[in-house]
Formats: sequence, C-alpha cells, structure tokens
Amino acid sequence: MPAIATMKSLAFMNKWVSSLLLVPSKVVTEKLGCPADFGFGELVWPTPGDEIPFWKNKFPSRDASPEAPAEIEKDSNLMHIIHITAEMAPIAKVGGLGDVVTGLARACLSRGHTVDIMLPFYECIQKQEISDLALITTYNSYHDGNWVATNAYHGVVSSIPVIFIEPSNQFFKGKNVYGGSYNELEAYLFFSRACLEWMQVTGVQPDIIHVHEWQIGALPLLYWDMYQSLSLKKPRIVLTIHNMEHYGECRQEQLSKCGLDGSIYASVEKAIDDRTIGHNPERLSLLKGGIVYSNAVVYFGILNGIDTVIWNPATDAFLPAKFHAQKPEGKKICKYYIQKGLGLKSEGTVPLVVCITRLVAQKGLHLITHAIKRAEELGGQMILLGNSPVHWVQKDFEDLANLHNKGTSTRILLMYSEELSHMLYAAADIVLVPSIYEPCGLAQMIGMRYGAVPVVRKTGGLADTVFDVDDPSNHEKANGFVFEGIDEGSLNWALDRAFRHFIDKPEEWNRIVQKVMENDNSWNNAAGKYMEIYNSIRVG
Ligand code: ADP
Repeated sequence: MPAIATMKSLAFMNKWVSSLLLVPSKVVTEKLGCPADFGFGELVWPTPGDEIPFWKNKFPSRDASPEAPAEIEKDSNLMHIIHITAEMAPIAKVGGLGDVVTGLARACLSRGHTVDIMLPFYECIQKQEISDLALITTYNSYHDGNWVATNAYHGVVSSIPVIFIEPSNQFFKGKNVYGGSYNELEAYLFFSRACLEWMQVTGVQPDIIHVHEWQIGALPLLYWDMYQSLSLKKPRIVLTIHNMEHYGECRQEQLSKCGLDGSIYASVEKAIDDRTIGHNPERLSLLKGGIVYSNAVVYFGILNGIDTVIWNPATDAFLPAKFHAQKPEGKKICKYYIQKGLGLKSEGTVPLVVCITRLVAQKGLHLITHAIKRAEELGGQMILLGNSPVHWVQKDFEDLANLHNKGTSTRILLMYSEELSHMLYAAADIVLVPSIYEPCGLAQMIGMRYGAVPVVRKTGGLADTVFDVDDPSNHEKANGFVFEGIDEGSLNWALDRAFRHFIDKPEEWNRIVQKVMENDNSWNNAAGKYMEIYNSIRVG
C-alpha cells in the first residue's frame, strides 16, 4: 500500500534524526517550559523507526477537565429517533458525516430521548470497538427478485445504541467503508429497504426516522409508497444533506431492484434528475427523491457541532498529554511528541501547520499543495494527513511526499488514521482548511477545540465559524485568519499573517489559542434546532 511505503521510507530516512532526539523526558518537559510535576516523566518518546507506529500507542485517558461536564437539561416532550446512515464515528467514518451522526445522536440522548443508529455491518468494522454486541433478529429483506437472509445485531458504540444490518450476500464486504467490489448504489438501496423491513418485522416504530445523504435517499420513497400501506404508520422522515456533490445517480431498473417500480419515479415531480431529461437513458437522483418524499429536509441551515466526548483534549486517550484552555502545557508535549515521532525538527518556536482532509477537489487541492511549499519557505512546518478516492490525485500526492518527506519540515501522510488525526490536531499551531466550498466543515472546529488557530477560505460554514484577527469590525469574534480568493496569493496573505503573529506576538497568539479552545462548538445549540424540526413534524 502506498501509504505504508511512504511511512517505511520515512522511517528509514529519519533513523539518524531519531537517534539525536533520544533525550530523557524530564529534560524535555523542562525544555518545553512545563512544570516539573507535569506528570509525563514516564513518557517514552517515539521515533520514526518504531516498529509499531507511535499513533497506535494507547495512553491513559486521564481526565484533566477543569470541572465536571454540565448536566444537560432534559427535554419534556421525549421521542424515539432512529438515524439511518452509511457512516458513524469512530467505527465507520470516512469524513464529517460519521462525526455528525454520532455527535447529534449523543446530544439527543443526553436530552433524554431514545436514539438508535442503524448502520450497515461493514466487514471492515472492528468488532472490539462494539460493546454488548448481540444478534437480535434474523429476517429476510428483498433485493432484485430474491429475499436475502439478513441479520440484525444490537451493540453499543461510544455509549450510543447501534443496530447493525448484515445481509448474507456480498454487500458491505471489503477493507473499507466505501469502494468494495459490489455495486454500492444497489447495496444502499438494499440497506434502505432492510431498515424499514426490520421495523416492519419487529414492530419498532420510532417517532422520527432521520436519514442522511443520497445513500438513504430511497428510504422515504419506500416508506410512503410501500411500508405505510403495510404496518408502519407513526414515523415521520427527516433528511439531512451534508454534501450535495453526491446525489445517487440511479437508472429506473436499478431503483426497481429494491421492489419499487422505478418507472413511476421518472417524473419531474418525483425523482428524475432534471439535467438528464432528453438523454438516453434519463436518470433518477436518489437525493432528489429523498427531498421530495421527506417531511423535512435540512441542508446545513443548521451549523454542525462537534462531539465533545470524542473530541476532548482534556480526556482524549489518543493524546500523550492532555490539556485544556486553563492548563495548556500538554499541547506543547503533543507537538514535541509528533515532531519526534515523524522526524521533524523539534522546535517549539516554529509554527506547525496541520491539514487533515479527504483529498478531493472540493478541499482546494492546489491550495493545499501550495501551502506545503509556502510553510517551508516561511521556515515553518506542515503535516498533511489525507487520502484520496481518486487514483491520480493519490499518485500526485505520493510524488509530492517523495519530494518533501526527506527533509525535517514537511510530512505528507497518505492514509486514514483516526488516532493520528487526534494527535495532529493537538500538536498543531495552525489548522488549515482552504476549501473551494464547504457546507459546514468540522476540521476547523475540531482544530480550535484542540488549540489550533484556523487559517481558512471564506466559504460556507468556514465563513460562519472563523473570523479574521485583523478585521477591526469583528474584534469580539476574531479567532483566526481568513482569505477569499482561490489563488495562491490569497492563501499566502492569510498564512503569512498567521506566521507573523505566531512569531512576533507570542502573547497575543496564546490569547487567541485560549479563545479558540473556549469557543463553544458543541452540539448543544444545533441539537436544539433539530429538536424543533422533529417536534414540528412528529405525529401525536
Ligand atoms: P468532509 O465531511 O467533507 O470530509 P468535514 O470537515 O466535515 O469534511 O469532516 C472531516 C472529518 O474527517 C474530520 O473529523 C477529519 O478529522 C476527518 N478526516 C478527514 N481525512 C482524514 C484522514 N485522512 N484521517 C483521519 N481523519 C480524517
């Protein structure tokens, strides 16, 4: 695998660097200006040559929170919500969708509601991350003229109840959440029906079925045109669109495989993709069908929150040192730990830029590439953690990695790693999000919670959450550096200013760091808005 090859060569190249860096941790904590009783005397510093990559290390999840989390007030009008989704953090996460589902589900649970998540039982899910896993039902669900034997399991993931749907055919097999050697569209059509079939078989009728993205877009059609005339009467349907780039292009005969008559939906009022009218064949859009058939549709009119249980630098088990706004010293340890582990020059005074992203056009690939060059020119450091589903993009970044990973200021790590992402946010001085468009964006919010100052392009949710430090009209909200254009000069303008701030005005920088860490980007607000929507459509 290319990502491993990159890490191996990295390990080899940097062996000599690591030998220079093997200094006792006590000396290190003193050098970093941390108090002697800081408690990291026993920390073993990693090297790029370590046989087990350092981000696989487990650290005690000591709670360094300043105070117990505030008791969330319970809602009075309690209901049952079932999320149906292709992703859930941390066990089946590819991007923000997984984070959002877990965060929103947890927020509604803490307000007293009953919440379940229904998820395909992907073969790649690590079963040890599920507690109390048990088979609850075996039933048949329809696909393409056959009834497929299907298992439904119950389990608990990160304190959230999950129902896993496991068909006995080839669907959802493979090493990753997406990209297995089965037809993805047909697999999600099957899954959408299998979730309703499970409710039909078991008699479970939630107040709200909350479906996410195109993958579950056919469920509202199946619900109103099939299962309502069977026994499902009570649920009402909410669809959240996280990213409109993907809309589930589907031919009539493909839709028919889930048991609906695909030809009925080939009209402008139902599910035809208007842009394909007059083409041969005309195509349906599962997302459009979902929009037409849902009781409520949310397109990021509601700003996401972040799951403050999974993303909490005061308790995070992936961090070698915990920290929070009032006790930020642990962040220096995390930066030093990452620098040592990746063979970067171990310098607290050099700004470290981190970018963690899917490598797709939306994310501003040319700006990411340029930032790598610019950070180096400015004497800073940059780490990119990313992965691309597009072969040529992955290849381009591999070439870039071969070029830059030899030095001691840049690391391009082409893989997906939840653990490493936590460590990198904690180590970062700056989190870079140069998206061309961004419906909401979580990276900037997570970065802020971990004390990284955001440098972002002014678009979508980034423009709603990051306000420029040098904009006098926004003094109170100021928390980062913002640029508007999509050219390299625009990025330079923001990145250069961030670097100058970091180097020339360390005290002011520390104040910004404290401010971003204290920012409330939790789900409290957003969950309240979702509850209003649920209440406005529920029956009874
Ligand atoms: P999107 O949903 O468009 O990918 P978001 O900013 O909403 O963008 O969410 C991205 C989420 O995926 C964040 O939690 C980010 O940390 C995570 N992520 C993206 N790429 C990687 C990667 N290569 N390894 C680990 N986490 C990643």
